[in-house]
Amino acid sequence: MSPEEPTCPHCARPLLVGEVGSDCPFCHQALAAPANPPPVVLNAGKTNWPLFFVIFFTPAIGNFISVAFNSLIFPILFTLVGGICSAIVCSRMIMARVQAAGMKRQFLSLVILLGLFALTFFLSFLGCASGAGILHGRF
Ligand SMILES: [Zn+2]
Repeated sequence: MSPEEPTCPHCARPLLVGEVGSDCPFCHQALAAPANPPPVVLNAGKTNWPLFFVIFFTPAIGNFISVAFNSLIFPILFTLVGGICSAIVCSRMIMARVQAAGMKRQFLSLVILLGLFALTFFLSFLGCASGAGILHGRF
């Protein structure tokens, strides 16, 4: 019997291949979990950067388009509602990759959220200004 051959931890009888992970056919006790369980991955998956930038630039592009169409309410909606939603989603995407816990994590997520909101707000203003400037010649 080779040392690799699985045996029951309760009755020490050799097990057949395929029985590991279920119950022992001799003493009917639950067998131990497989030797190499898949590691628990905290940050599963990669950051979807194209999606990140689409969400990030949506308020600015929305501003540009709505100003181009002479809308008054949509630029405000895009800047405030769109900017807040965009900053929340984007900061969550970044925080999924950040290895920090507890207070440090909360502080970091707040800083990233505020930073992203400031950036989207600034980009929205740029989108607004360029929309008005290019298409209406106001600036
Ligand atoms: Zn057994």
